Amino acid sequence: MSLTPKERDACARIESWRQRMVDELAAWVAIPTGRGHVPGLHRQRALLAARLRALGAVTHDEPCEARPAWIDPPWAHGGAAGGVGHGSAGVGEGDTSIDVLVAKHDAPGPRLLLSGHFDTVHDPHGAFRALVDVGGGRAQGPGAADMKGGLVIALAALEAIRDAGVPPAWTFVLTPDEETGSFGSAAALARVAPGHAAGFVFEPAGDGDSLVVERMGAGQFMVEATGRAAHAGRDYAKGVSAVRVLCERVLQAERASDAAAGRIVNVGPLQGGAVTNAVPDRARAWGNMRFADDARQAELERAIDALASGDDDEVPRVRVRRVVGRPAKPMTPAVERLAALAREASEDLGRPLPFARSGGVCDGNNLQAAGLPVIDTLGVRGGNLHRTDEWVDLEGLVDRAQLVALVLMRARERVAPSP
Ligand SMILES: [Zn+2]
Repeated sequence: MSLTPKERDACARIESWRQRMVDELAAWVAIPTGRGHVPGLHRQRALLAARLRALGAVTHDEPCEARPAWIDPPWAHGGAAGGVGHGSAGVGEGDTSIDVLVAKHDAPGPRLLLSGHFDTVHDPHGAFRALVDVGGGRAQGPGAADMKGGLVIALAALEAIRDAGVPPAWTFVLTPDEETGSFGSAAALARVAPGHAAGFVFEPAGDGDSLVVERMGAGQFMVEATGRAAHAGRDYAKGVSAVRVLCERVLQAERASDAAAGRIVNVGPLQGGAVTNAVPDRARAWGNMRFADDARQAELERAIDALASGDDDEVPRVRVRRVVGRPAKPMTPAVERLAALAREASEDLGRPLPFARSGGVCDGNNLQAAGLPVIDTLGVRGGNLHRTDEWVDLEGLVDRAQLVALVLMRARERVAPSP
């Protein structure tokens, strides 16, 4: 297949916006939105809302839930509860509530769901604060690839297809806490997703420009052991070490891991005891589980639950908490069709689009679990994500935006509306 006149029109517009996209990316990268930095998140969110309204969308807020406090060890996020959402402390002062941003644009045809996040993992007070051209067509900056670059190209694509005269019906949902697991925005994603025919997420392209078509799911857990304190010298025999009990449970938990079978349990960090000359009466471990599908999820949940023991006043006793924030995102026939549509569009632009699978998770997991097929690495070409040398391919802003434009235009024609 080759490009239609309208597709060529949209691509030509994007080509002419190269410098404008770089400038917009530089402006957004300079806004610190890492680690729950509330003023930066508010500023970035307001800019996105204005940009989406200029595209003809109506915007509204979806409130975030509180992040479960037990998920983070006390020293995480600089001692604050961490994350974003009502009832949780951000790093900043004052209003700590950052809502999910939802923008809706009406047009005939199936309704398409676009999804992105405007937080990053980067230290808002660190040295890595701006987009810097490092030569070779690359620029480094916090969130340049993950995913402020993805947001820039998604908006350019929407603008180009509107100007080309074929705007689809779309909803754009933007979360402020994806990098910490979207615990605040998961419920909002589940509320927004129904009624959409397909989902498109602007995480950076996979290795070799690949499109990730399958992702594991992820959950968090915390194991807490209670023992009996005693002086290590005078009363050692009266003590019951919570650290020893916890260590046994850690080994038990890790035995549930079988990466080849699609089950991963990773334990850490750990905390136990306060001084060396007392038998520790309290110890805790935080962990992460990854699973290939719902059946593996159930197996891991049973394994984690089996770590608990002892009645409420019994010593020692072990208690467990767990939550699955990201259901697995398996390949389905509908995902396969969507991925094939994207591959054809990419090939029509002269670039192959290999498929890949990942143990990593994103908001695409939650959206697909809400019932629609989702493809989720449609963002920019870049690398060294989550590091202070994260980079984006500046030339790629054009061709990746063109790919998004083509994918959305063709999805408008070919994807069956949501039942
Ligand atoms: Zn991301």
